[in-house]
This record gives sequence, C-alpha cells and structure tokens, in this order.
Amino acid sequence: MLAEIARGLWLTLKHSWRSRVTVQYPDEREEMPKGYRGLHKLLRWEDGLERCVGCKLCSAACPVDCIFVESAENDPARPTSKGERYASVYEINELRCIFCGYCEEACPVGAIVLGNEYEFCQDHRDKFLYAKRDLLVRRTEDYPELKARYDEKRLLTYV
Ligand code: SF4
Ligand code: SF4
Repeated sequence: MLAEIARGLWLTLKHSWRSRVTVQYPDEREEMPKGYRGLHKLLRWEDGLERCVGCKLCSAACPVDCIFVESAENDPARPTSKGERYASVYEINELRCIFCGYCEEACPVGAIVLGNEYEFCQDHRDKFLYAKRDLLVRRTEDYPELKARYDEKRLLTYV
C-alpha cells in the first residue's frame, strides 16, 4: 500500500518537471499540418475574377450532398468569372460536411479549397449554412497557405 502511494507520488513528481505536451488553447494555437482540411474557401484569380464557373462538379462529387450551386450566364461586358457561367448561388452546409476533400479534388479550376480554419463554432445550426459571401475570399494572395491545396498545372486550361 505504502509502496504504491510512493510510486504514485514519484510518478507525479517525475512528470511535473517534464515539458508540457498540451497546448494552452486559445492563448496558444498549433499550426495545422499541410493536408489539414478545414473550413472551405472560394478563390479568385489574380485579376480578381472568381475562379468558380458554376459547373457543379463539386456538388456532384460530394458524398453527403451538402453543396448547392446555381449557375448563371456571365455578362460579357462585366464578367464575374472567366468561364461562360459563374455561380450565382453557392452554399455549403458545413454541419453536414465530412471534410473529405472530394469537392476540392473534383473542381477543374481550383476554385473551392479546404482551408486551415477550424474555429467556426456557432450558436445555432442555421449559421452553419455558408453562403457564397461567407466563402468567397477578397484576394487569394491573402491566403498563401491555400496555394498548396491545388496544383495549377492540373487545372483545365480553358479559363
Ligand atoms: S469536403 Fe466532402 S463532404 Fe464536405 S463539401 Fe466537400 S465533398 Fe462535401
Ligand atoms: S467550385 Fe469548382 S467544381 Fe464547384 S461549381 Fe465552382 S468551378 Fe465547378
């Protein structure tokens, strides 16, 4: 009995000198690994046009049917994207998403990517329905970490 108490105290003492393995969140944050799949982003080209051409391939690839896309014809005078069409509606139900990355794989223009963001708690389930305005970035250059998420060489060249 005494030996067990002594062993327990010794173990406690031994570990109290070791460096901490836990992260003191939210004061400290861990850097996510390269392949981490977090909250989605819709990207733009360098000239500011939207990458998404509203082809709905991401929606078709999604195994849980949580992407909804509606497309519309681009106005040639003021195009929104570089394709003939653009996504007039783009929604993701992040509550249903399983973060498999199939949408990212399916997209021919590297428009939809899964970013590093993991802090997107909400106080109501309706708030997990992300609309295009929530997903579309202002400038892709502001998210250099996302560049590794798609391979420019792999993208279709028609845009
Ligand atoms: S990560 Fe997977 S589940 Fe989530 S939207 Fe993309 S394809 Fe659907
Ligand atoms: S995100 Fe990509 S796959 Fe989805 S509709 Fe837009 S262009 Fe097509």
